[in-house]
Amino acid sequence: MKNRRYILRGAGQGEELAVTQVTALFAMSAVAVWSDEISQLPNDTFLIYHHFVPQETGTASICEVFYRTEQGLRYAARRDYADDCTDLRQKRWLVRLNLYHLLIDITGQASNPWGILSGVRPAKLVHRMLDHGSTPATILKSLTQEFALQPEKAQLVTGVALRQRPFLMRPEELTKKVSIYIGIPFCPTRCLYCSFPAYVLPGEEATQAFLTALFADMAAAREALTRYGLSVQTVYIGGGTPTSLTLTDLEALLAQTVTLFAGEATEFTVEAGRPDTLDDAKIRLLVDYGVTRVSVNPQTMQQKTLKLIGRMHSVQDIICVFGKIRMCNIPVINMDIIAGLPGESVEDMADTLRQIAALKPDSLTVHTLALKRGSRLSESVEAYETPDALVTAEMLSLADQTAKNLGMLPYYLYRQKRMAGNLENIGYSLPGKECIYNIQVIEERQTILGIGPAATTKVVQPCGLTNYYQPKDISTYINTLPNRLQKRNALLAAALAK
Ligand code: SF4
Repeated sequence: MKNRRYILRGAGQGEELAVTQVTALFAMSAVAVWSDEISQLPNDTFLIYHHFVPQETGTASICEVFYRTEQGLRYAARRDYADDCTDLRQKRWLVRLNLYHLLIDITGQASNPWGILSGVRPAKLVHRMLDHGSTPATILKSLTQEFALQPEKAQLVTGVALRQRPFLMRPEELTKKVSIYIGIPFCPTRCLYCSFPAYVLPGEEATQAFLTALFADMAAAREALTRYGLSVQTVYIGGGTPTSLTLTDLEALLAQTVTLFAGEATEFTVEAGRPDTLDDAKIRLLVDYGVTRVSVNPQTMQQKTLKLIGRMHSVQDIICVFGKIRMCNIPVINMDIIAGLPGESVEDMADTLRQIAALKPDSLTVHTLALKRGSRLSESVEAYETPDALVTAEMLSLADQTAKNLGMLPYYLYRQKRMAGNLENIGYSLPGKECIYNIQVIEERQTILGIGPAATTKVVQPCGLTNYYQPKDISTYINTLPNRLQKRNALLAAALAK
């Protein structure tokens, strides 16, 4: 059944998208046809026919599947959902739910861990339900029955949302408190799976041109904060690997950040993903400028995999840098790992987790490998042997157990397209060591000013969210900055000017 082309008929405006989202879960594609084309369908093509029938109690959603054989069109299956569906949003949901169950029945495929939820931020749905007064028990029931989540995923996302609640902005805080993201697009090498804008550090002249533009971007953000009376809750310097900068440039960046934003922030994160970008002097700078959270991201503790994914450092380098940062008493050290890396087995993951547990980080972020467009991996995926969905799920389960043994709880999660097994990325932390920025950026309940190439500004208002993107390419970022700052200011003025 896999990869067979499906043909959709009967769904109205917007519902085709719902059908496409569900068929994608079954590795199928769908396309709309008109009734006079049915006779021309090739054999073994399925027809998904979705229609709504008005009834006394409301509207029944009926989803039928036919398939074409040499003998003609044959009936395959039908599922009804006899409930009221009045608005378009609800109709789309009904299409997704009906079709999902129907395709599970007729394909025999195992259920999807996240049911019909296809979005990046599943906890948002739980927050909406909590906002409307639902209890955790009602939410769990709704997630498993109306969104077809597996019970353990429903428990996971509900627990995450409940843990996030104290950190979310109250409506009256929306125009008062923001976070700042600063993107530094440099890394020593490009990882196999990377789709971020991450460039090898250029020569002195190009680096200075970049920093000049970045500092102008930062100054403009500071002006906006002052103009609208905003305070800064968190600052996050990410990338890329910001610690790829030279000692002098890193100091200039940290000094500027503290002067403009971080002096007042309660949380100040610097990503130091690659241990080969840190030395004693740079670690000292992080301490001296008041960084409260550092992320050292091994992704794996298997030497063979580090080499395969294009990293130039050793497992020992990770252990050594971690120990040095720990000695400096920076309050939080996070480590990122990835489940499903090419060539890795469950035993490799277990060994990675044993080594991480011995280091005792304060938080652990567990990603599932995603075949991101633009990465070297997605362009030559056949050349690598990646663990299948079941193995990846077992790796995630081991990571979950390790995090819990370390006293950590999951506090944010998100999903991406093309993830192994349709799984998720989870951030765990010791209680009180959560990264507030990560919660704000994923749940989109706080305005975030994005500075630097590829940074996104998210302006949150009670009526909704507006995103504004900076270009990924460094030259375009530098050359178009004045114009883009004007646009960002206009966006902020529309949302915040009294
Ligand atoms: S460290 Fe991160 S940003 Fe840099 S190349 Fe690797 S995945 Fe990309």
